[in-house]
Amino acid sequence: MDQESIYNQILSGHRKAGKHYAFNDDHDPHRPADFWFQHSPEGLILFVVFFTQACRWSRCLGCNLPGRMSSRHVSYKAIMAQIDNLFNQPEIVRQYAAIHKIIVSNNGSILDQATFSSTAFMYLMAKVNLHLPNLAVFALETRPEFVEFAELEFIARALAEGDTPTELELAIGFEAFDEHVRNQFFDKGLSFEGFEKLVRLAAPYNYRIKTYFMQKPVPQMTDAEAVRDIERAIDYLHGMAGRYGIRINMHLNPTYAARGTLLEESFQKGQFTAPLLSDVARAVRHARDKALSVFIGLSDEGLAVEGGSFLRPADAQWVQRLEQFNRTQDYAFLES
Ligand code: SF4
Repeated sequence: MDQESIYNQILSGHRKAGKHYAFNDDHDPHRPADFWFQHSPEGLILFVVFFTQACRWSRCLGCNLPGRMSSRHVSYKAIMAQIDNLFNQPEIVRQYAAIHKIIVSNNGSILDQATFSSTAFMYLMAKVNLHLPNLAVFALETRPEFVEFAELEFIARALAEGDTPTELELAIGFEAFDEHVRNQFFDKGLSFEGFEKLVRLAAPYNYRIKTYFMQKPVPQMTDAEAVRDIERAIDYLHGMAGRYGIRINMHLNPTYAARGTLLEESFQKGQFTAPLLSDVARAVRHARDKALSVFIGLSDEGLAVEGGSFLRPADAQWVQRLEQFNRTQDYAFLES
């Protein structure tokens, strides 16, 4: 696909979803969009978002992540410069040996070769092996349609050359369990069959699966329905983990009214409020003694419209407790 067609594909998704945010075309392409650390019971996680051309799907209802990216192609040389920049950040250099897991994102699909160059990807692998001697998990965010198993085998082989064994994790956006909500209201374009095919292919290689869910992703859901949707997702993932013997993590993001999307309009009209963190805790309690781990996303990355975030001043204690849960997987922190 040529550059103009990819650009038009992004704009067409953007228009279809009624979005009106601008792209971040002025960002310095030699610096990553963002990076931060997370803490899990397994160890320190480095989350990096590379700055590339935006997600080609771009049409999911409440998502303005493509707005932090470029509408135009970002060259492999610029992405390689971002990789150098990342591995030279003093706070990362200090923690090279402590990093247990790296999650690689471009707010879209790392395995989409049209937006994340293959040359830059190989350079990233080399840097990971050179600088992260204790890396146990290498996670890639991608839509399932870009997963090619020959490529994953190559990545796994390259990872095996590192100083310690490193598992590969595929991080897939699921967003809502209910298929109608997911594909009609949210326009995710993901079927159960598509997800299960990926799990079947990943299982023999022992690749891990991470699934992103959103609590209350659309205005058509009540708070109680949103909790129930996550509980059903937990039961489903528990069943998949048992059936295929794979390790599954649910990454649960409470939804916020993202600037420049139809969700912002619903929020302004009083048709949508972000979920309460006490309801997020309630939903996650359902995963106790199930065959999956859960991580609760507690940042709106500054992308929420004013008053539209789940981070309410009165909920500071809940934030602390959910962070403690993330670090420990101790369900006592989720009790009300
Ligand atoms: S949720 Fe993911 S796939 Fe959907 S538009 Fe946002 S970045 Fe793209």
